[in-house]
Amino acid sequence: MRIGLGHDTHRFEEGPARRPLVLGGVAVPFHRSLVGHSDADVLFHALTDAILGALGEGDIGDVFPDTDEENRGRNSAEFLKYAADLVYERGWRFENVDAVIFAQAPKLGPYKAQMKIEIARILDIPPEMVGVKAKTGERVGFIGREEAISAEAVVLLENDP
Ligand code: MG
Repeated sequence: MRIGLGHDTHRFEEGPARRPLVLGGVAVPFHRSLVGHSDADVLFHALTDAILGALGEGDIGDVFPDTDEENRGRNSAEFLKYAADLVYERGWRFENVDAVIFAQAPKLGPYKAQMKIEIARILDIPPEMVGVKAKTGERVGFIGREEAISAEAVVLLENDP
């Protein structure tokens, strides 16, 4: 078995949204957006890092550098798909993935089910192997002050036949 851990944070843009707020591949209606070279999907970035970590492959910045214009505004589903493809190419399979999004706002409860479905589709696993949870920052710290959104993810891989 292999375990992987991922974490990511993106801060909110000053002022009104310049682009959609995308979390776990789902466009969440909100009046603000996140700063990022790609589409700033913190959940997909944390999951991608967890998978790369389980494979001993460094991190998302090694594979998709933010200095590369190719990655500007890029759909983070492509990063996650790249990591999932590596899992299968190397002869591993997913046992499960679990993730937490930390956001004071917007309220993410109504979108968690769709995020699960998106993650399961990209990883090619059943939705019941995917956990997505949302936490506020209890109005303290940079999450609670609505300065940023963070995400954490773990993944477990197996290579039993
Ligand atoms: Mg990121």
